[in-house]
Amino acid sequence: MVIGILALQGNVREHLANLNRHDVQGLPVRLPGDLAGIEGLILPGGESTAMRNLVSSSGLEEPVGDLIRQGLPVWGTCAGVVLLARGGIWSSVDITVVRNAYGSQVFSRLVHEKSTLSETPTPMVFIRSPRITSAGREVEIIAEVEGDVVAVRQGSILLTTFHPELVDHSPFTACFIDMVRARSARPDETPAPGHCPKEAGRTV
Ligand code: GLN
Repeated sequence: MVIGILALQGNVREHLANLNRHDVQGLPVRLPGDLAGIEGLILPGGESTAMRNLVSSSGLEEPVGDLIRQGLPVWGTCAGVVLLARGGIWSSVDITVVRNAYGSQVFSRLVHEKSTLSETPTPMVFIRSPRITSAGREVEIIAEVEGDVVAVRQGSILLTTFHPELVDHSPFTACFIDMVRARSARPDETPAPGHCPKEAGRTV
Protein backbone atom coordinates (compact mmCIF):
# COMPACT_ATOMS: atom_id res chain seq x y z
CA MET A 1 0.00 0.00 0.00
CA VAL A 2 1.31 3.46 -0.87
CA ILE A 3 -0.08 6.60 0.75
CA GLY A 4 0.85 9.98 -0.69
CA ILE A 5 1.70 12.96 1.51
CA LEU A 6 1.30 16.45 0.09
CA ALA A 7 4.92 17.56 0.40
CA LEU A 8 4.93 21.26 -0.43
CA GLN A 9 5.25 22.55 3.13
CA GLY A 10 4.66 21.47 6.73
CA ASN A 11 4.81 18.17 8.66
CA VAL A 12 5.83 15.92 5.77
CA ARG A 13 8.72 14.06 7.45
CA GLU A 14 6.61 13.45 10.54
CA HIS A 15 3.84 11.84 8.49
CA LEU A 16 6.36 9.73 6.54
CA ALA A 17 7.88 8.48 9.80
CA ASN A 18 4.43 7.82 11.23
CA LEU A 19 3.42 5.71 8.23
CA ASN A 20 6.73 3.82 8.48
CA ARG A 21 5.95 3.03 12.14
CA HIS A 22 2.76 1.42 10.84
CA ASP A 23 4.64 -0.49 8.11
CA VAL A 24 3.05 1.59 5.36
CA GLN A 25 5.01 3.26 2.60
CA GLY A 26 4.57 7.03 2.28
CA LEU A 27 5.26 8.89 -0.95
CA PRO A 28 5.91 12.66 -1.02
CA VAL A 29 3.60 14.35 -3.54
CA ARG A 30 4.97 17.55 -5.08
CA LEU A 31 3.72 17.41 -8.67
CA PRO A 32 0.66 15.93 -10.43
CA GLY A 33 2.75 13.00 -11.72
CA ASP A 34 3.39 11.89 -8.12
CA LEU A 35 -0.31 11.09 -7.69
CA ALA A 36 -0.16 8.05 -9.97
CA GLY A 37 -0.66 4.88 -7.98
CA ILE A 38 -1.27 6.37 -4.55
CA GLU A 39 -4.10 4.71 -2.62
CA GLY A 40 -4.66 7.49 -0.09
CA LEU A 41 -3.47 11.05 0.46
CA ILE A 42 -2.46 12.96 3.58
CA LEU A 43 -2.66 16.76 3.73
CA PRO A 44 -0.29 17.63 6.58
CA GLY A 45 -0.28 20.41 9.12
CA GLY A 46 1.74 23.51 8.37
CA GLU A 47 0.60 26.88 7.12
CA SER A 48 -2.59 26.62 5.12
CA THR A 49 -2.17 29.91 3.23
CA ALA A 50 1.31 28.91 2.05
CA MET A 51 0.08 25.44 1.20
CA ARG A 52 -2.88 26.81 -0.72
CA ASN A 53 -0.60 29.00 -2.85
CA LEU A 54 1.85 26.16 -3.46
CA VAL A 55 -0.98 23.79 -4.40
CA SER A 56 -2.13 26.27 -7.04
CA SER A 57 1.33 26.91 -8.47
CA SER A 58 2.29 23.22 -8.55
CA GLY A 59 -0.77 22.28 -10.62
CA LEU A 60 -2.11 19.95 -7.92
CA GLU A 61 -5.44 21.69 -7.28
CA GLU A 62 -7.38 20.11 -10.12
CA PRO A 63 -5.98 16.53 -10.11
CA VAL A 64 -6.29 16.25 -6.32
CA GLY A 65 -9.84 17.63 -6.54
CA ASP A 66 -10.66 14.97 -9.14
CA LEU A 67 -9.26 12.20 -6.92
CA ILE A 68 -11.26 13.48 -3.93
CA ARG A 69 -14.44 13.42 -6.01
CA GLN A 70 -13.60 9.87 -7.12
CA GLY A 71 -13.48 8.82 -3.45
CA LEU A 72 -9.75 8.62 -2.77
CA PRO A 73 -9.30 8.39 1.03
CA VAL A 74 -7.85 11.68 2.25
CA TRP A 75 -6.69 12.63 5.75
CA GLY A 76 -6.32 16.31 6.60
CA THR A 77 -4.44 17.21 9.78
CA CYS A 78 -4.58 20.76 11.18
CA ALA A 79 -3.78 23.04 8.19
CA GLY A 80 -4.99 20.15 6.01
CA VAL A 81 -8.40 20.56 7.67
CA VAL A 82 -8.51 24.19 6.48
CA LEU A 83 -7.84 23.09 2.88
CA LEU A 84 -10.79 20.66 2.95
CA ALA A 85 -13.30 22.71 4.97
CA ARG A 86 -15.92 25.00 3.41
CA GLY A 87 -14.10 27.89 1.73
CA GLY A 88 -10.86 25.90 1.52
CA ILE A 89 -9.09 25.15 -1.73
CA TRP A 90 -10.90 21.78 -2.06
CA SER A 91 -13.96 22.63 0.04
CA SER A 92 -14.93 18.94 0.28
CA VAL A 93 -16.20 18.54 3.85
CA ASP A 94 -19.32 20.26 5.18
CA ILE A 95 -17.70 22.02 8.13
CA THR A 96 -16.77 25.61 8.83
CA VAL A 97 -13.53 26.44 10.61
CA VAL A 98 -11.90 29.43 12.24
CA ARG A 99 -8.15 29.41 11.77
CA ASN A 100 -5.79 29.79 14.73
CA ALA A 101 -8.82 30.02 17.01
CA TYR A 102 -6.95 28.74 20.07
CA GLY A 103 -4.26 31.41 19.97
CA SER A 104 -0.61 31.46 18.98
CA GLN A 105 2.14 28.83 19.12
CA VAL A 106 2.66 29.27 22.88
CA PHE A 107 -0.86 27.94 23.46
CA SER A 108 0.06 24.61 21.81
CA ARG A 109 -0.89 21.73 24.09
CA LEU A 110 -1.14 18.02 24.61
CA VAL A 111 -4.56 16.68 25.63
CA HIS A 112 -5.65 13.10 26.38
CA GLU A 113 -9.20 12.43 25.29
CA LYS A 114 -11.47 9.52 24.38
CA SER A 115 -13.04 9.26 20.94
CA THR A 116 -15.40 6.96 19.08
CA LEU A 117 -12.22 5.14 17.99
CA SER A 118 -10.92 4.45 21.48
CA GLU A 119 -12.34 4.17 25.00
CA THR A 120 -8.82 4.82 26.28
CA PRO A 121 -7.87 8.51 26.21
CA THR A 122 -5.62 9.19 23.22
CA PRO A 123 -2.85 11.83 23.17
CA MET A 124 -3.79 14.76 20.91
CA VAL A 125 -1.24 17.48 20.10
CA PHE A 126 -2.76 20.85 19.19
CA ILE A 127 -0.53 23.41 17.43
CA ARG A 128 -2.30 26.59 16.31
CA SER A 129 -5.25 24.45 15.34
CA PRO A 130 -8.35 25.56 13.50
CA ARG A 131 -11.61 25.36 15.49
CA ILE A 132 -14.53 23.54 13.85
CA THR A 133 -17.51 25.84 14.33
CA SER A 134 -20.22 23.93 12.44
CA ALA A 135 -20.71 20.54 10.87
CA GLY A 136 -23.42 19.41 8.44
CA ARG A 137 -25.58 16.28 8.63
CA GLU A 138 -23.21 14.15 6.57
CA VAL A 139 -20.37 14.74 8.99
CA GLU A 140 -19.51 12.09 11.58
CA ILE A 141 -18.17 13.43 14.85
CA ILE A 142 -15.27 11.24 16.00
CA ALA A 143 -13.74 13.23 18.85
CA GLU A 144 -14.44 16.27 20.99
CA VAL A 145 -12.27 18.14 23.48
CA GLU A 146 -13.94 20.42 25.99
CA GLY A 147 -17.04 20.75 23.82
CA ASP A 148 -15.15 21.43 20.58
CA VAL A 149 -15.27 18.92 17.73
CA VAL A 150 -11.67 17.99 16.86
CA ALA A 151 -12.01 14.97 14.57
CA VAL A 152 -14.62 14.21 11.91
CA ARG A 153 -15.19 12.01 8.92
CA GLN A 154 -17.30 12.60 5.84
CA GLY A 155 -17.32 9.69 3.41
CA SER A 156 -13.72 8.95 2.49
CA ILE A 157 -12.28 12.04 4.19
CA LEU A 158 -10.90 12.02 7.74
CA LEU A 159 -10.06 15.31 9.46
CA THR A 160 -8.18 15.88 12.73
CA THR A 161 -7.50 19.40 13.95
CA PHE A 162 -4.61 17.95 15.99
CA HIS A 163 -1.47 16.00 15.00
CA PRO A 164 -1.73 12.19 15.39
CA GLU A 165 1.51 11.84 13.39
CA LEU A 166 3.41 13.23 16.38
CA VAL A 167 2.50 10.34 18.69
CA ASP A 168 3.70 6.76 18.45
CA HIS A 169 0.48 4.86 17.84
CA SER A 170 -2.70 6.83 17.39
CA PRO A 171 -6.07 5.23 16.61
CA PHE A 172 -6.56 8.07 14.13
CA THR A 173 -3.61 6.87 12.06
CA ALA A 174 -4.95 3.30 12.30
CA CYS A 175 -8.37 4.57 11.21
CA PHE A 176 -6.98 6.22 8.10
CA ILE A 177 -4.90 3.20 7.14
CA ASP A 178 -8.07 1.11 7.52
CA MET A 179 -9.95 3.50 5.27
CA VAL A 180 -7.24 3.16 2.61
CA ARG A 181 -7.19 -0.66 2.91
CA ALA A 182 -10.97 -0.83 2.65
CA ARG A 183 -11.02 1.34 -0.43
CA SER A 184 -8.22 -0.62 -2.13
CA ALA A 185 -10.14 -3.84 -1.49
CA ARG A 186 -13.47 -2.40 -2.72
CA PRO A 187 -12.71 0.58 -4.98
CA ASP A 188 -16.35 1.21 -5.91
CA GLU A 189 -17.63 1.58 -2.35
CA THR A 190 -17.36 4.43 0.10
CA PRO A 191 -15.15 2.94 2.81
CA ALA A 192 -16.90 1.94 6.03
CA PRO A 193 -14.03 0.68 8.20
CA GLY A 194 -14.62 -0.86 11.59
CA HIS A 195 -12.29 1.64 13.23
CA CYS A 196 -14.48 4.58 12.26
CA PRO A 197 -18.04 3.95 13.40
CA LYS A 198 -20.65 6.08 11.74
CA GLU A 199 -22.40 8.63 13.93
CA ALA A 200 -25.10 11.11 13.08
CA GLY A 201 -23.71 14.52 12.20
CA ARG A 202 -24.93 17.57 14.04
CA THR A 203 -24.47 21.28 14.27
CA VAL A 204 -21.74 22.14 16.74
N1 GLN B 1 -2.54 27.73 11.91
C1 GLN B 1 -2.26 26.96 10.75
C2 GLN B 1 -3.14 27.37 9.58
O1 GLN B 1 -4.29 27.65 9.75
C3 GLN B 1 -2.39 25.48 11.02
C4 GLN B 1 -1.41 25.03 12.08
C5 GLN B 1 -0.97 23.62 11.93
O2 GLN B 1 -1.18 23.00 10.91
N2 GLN B 1 -0.27 23.12 12.91
O3 GLN B 1 -2.66 27.36 8.49
